[in-house]
Amino acid sequence: METIEYLLSIDINYIAVGLIALFFTLEHVLSTQFPFKERGKHFWNSLLFQVVFLIGNLFWAGFFVFCIEWLNQNEIGLFYMLEFPLWLKLILGILILDLGTYWFHRLSHLSPVLWRFHRVHHSDTTMDSSNYFRSHPIEVLFWFGSAPIFMSAIFGLDLFTIGVYFLVLTPFLVIEHSNLKFPAWLDKTIGLVITTPNFHKIHHDQDQHYTDSNFADIFILWDRIFGTYKYKPAEQVKLGLAEFDEERKQTFWYLIRSPFLRD
Ligand SMILES: [Zn+2]
Ligand SMILES: [Zn+2]
Repeated sequence: METIEYLLSIDINYIAVGLIALFFTLEHVLSTQFPFKERGKHFWNSLLFQVVFLIGNLFWAGFFVFCIEWLNQNEIGLFYMLEFPLWLKLILGILILDLGTYWFHRLSHLSPVLWRFHRVHHSDTTMDSSNYFRSHPIEVLFWFGSAPIFMSAIFGLDLFTIGVYFLVLTPFLVIEHSNLKFPAWLDKTIGLVITTPNFHKIHHDQDQHYTDSNFADIFILWDRIFGTYKYKPAEQVKLGLAEFDEERKQTFWYLIRSPFLRD
């Protein structure tokens, strides 16, 4: 528990930056799955999304913490009615939060309004670990940020559990987007329960049959249970979205405005 508390005391952004630096280097020295196109430009494009997110988060983070603390102080949620040991609450909390983001993610593909923001993440025709940054800040702050609040209101999760969830989630998000070759045996073993990088790349396929699959961030189990798990060999994946294939639609400036533009 002390180790977890120590890790939680480190700003999650430092952990993300450290992981991206590691995987960005590995992508440079190891054989990659997809060819790179102007990697430096691609990186800066992705990084700009993070800059806008961090500025927005200065305001959002306070509101987020306030909501969770208010729910906790008023003992709202199922866990306050049940006597669970801390470790069980933690494991269940991580499962519940991952289930929440699964449904929010699925909703982002179903709702035309949410999709206009979420497709920014899907629009990339190349991919590397810096894709961790590439999401529309409005989507991350408001909709995906709402998932933990929503799940806390139902289940009574505290900031500690949410912190641990993000701590576990961050390496998943970096590795899932990394442009490295991952063996198929990984998909057949840990892939029975855990989301592997190959599964997430299928989610980034241009073919909508595959785009609308493999929504889970940590536990692919949710896709298997709710019938959205799909598979194809990673080397057959064509990344991106057909409507964003043009080079001018890959710039930060175009993408940040894209939810509000007529196609
Ligand atoms: Zn998606
Ligand atoms: Zn992704």
